[in-house]
Amino acid sequence: MNKSNDSLAGIYIHIPFCKQACHYCDFHFSTNSQLRDQLIKMISGELVLQRGYLGDQIVETIYFGGGTPSLLSPHQISGLLSTVYDNFTICDQPEITLEANPDDLNTEYLENLRATGINRLSIGIQSFQQEVLQWMNRAHTQEEACNSFHRARSSGFDNINIDLIYGIPLEQYQQQDDLKQALELAPEHISAYNLTIEPGTLFGHQLKKGSLVEIDEETAAAQFLYTMETLDSAGYQHYEISNYCRPGKQSGHNLGYWNGSYYLGVGPSAHSFNGMSRQSNISNNAAYIRSLEKEQIPSEVELLSARQRLNEKILLGLRREIGIALELCVDTLAINLNASRGNYLSRLVSQELAIIEKNRLILTDKGKLLADSIAEDLFLDI
Ligand code: SF4
Repeated sequence: MNKSNDSLAGIYIHIPFCKQACHYCDFHFSTNSQLRDQLIKMISGELVLQRGYLGDQIVETIYFGGGTPSLLSPHQISGLLSTVYDNFTICDQPEITLEANPDDLNTEYLENLRATGINRLSIGIQSFQQEVLQWMNRAHTQEEACNSFHRARSSGFDNINIDLIYGIPLEQYQQQDDLKQALELAPEHISAYNLTIEPGTLFGHQLKKGSLVEIDEETAAAQFLYTMETLDSAGYQHYEISNYCRPGKQSGHNLGYWNGSYYLGVGPSAHSFNGMSRQSNISNNAAYIRSLEKEQIPSEVELLSARQRLNEKILLGLRREIGIALELCVDTLAINLNASRGNYLSRLVSQELAIIEKNRLILTDKGKLLADSIAEDLFLDI
């Protein structure tokens, strides 16, 4: 797969089931597995109904996300992959990722997973500290976090991401320990996210009641910078705000999102993008099944104007190490940031928040802390 190609197309398959609810999570999932088999059948049906969505684009990445895709049997995964291969044009060596939780990864499962064609694992480790895992209500233990990784390696997985969460407001939390242990495992890719407290989650309720207090902005910034410095000195490339990799081991699937490539998302709550519009599926398993039984996809479509797409380019581009071109263009809409926002750009440079290199605006480490607000400042009015 050519990861620098801007015309990657991807398929995302959302598996909306989890063993238990993590206290910070606001993704769409259910802890009731009764509808699982029926829902997998309907996702397969949606793939068939959506076979024209990507036009003649070649699919280079397939991504099982969730929820917890590692709750599916290898048989269910290969069934879904067969439907993908039967209905879309797939490149010779697609990147096929499965998000997995450590407690699901026994050796037999991992070996069967390899046989389905999954060639990249994204393991939701989040932390190596038992108190933190319990506080977040993760289903795995500290021991399972490490063992699952070693078992995945022994089973032949040579492209593994681990997810980490920092910014934990617990006295006993040691960010250095998590990074040290992550580096000892030497994964190809690390995604490191600051804990965000979302309304509607248990942590969200606790925050509202005052029984949980978030870490202050200064500490969050210090932990972000520490993550960057530590992973950078260990040879990881910081290619997107929350993502680090060994050279050449970027997530092709996520690069597709950030490049504005086409993607089809199937399953409840999944999103799709075809260059002109975004489609969002209903976030309700039972309603999704009822609709697919009638061969109807329960989704809303939002047509995106050229301005919206250009703003999205700015937002996603500024999060990446390559930044954004100073001359941006979507359809017939073209802007030159030097001409229209010259003073603002000079201010960013003089405050050491950004550099301008080869006609691109690239945020510095300090600037990355303010990426979203800088993007907003550069947005065109809709
Ligand atoms: S396992 Fe993942 S998707 Fe499920 S509740 Fe936890 S964080 Fe959310």
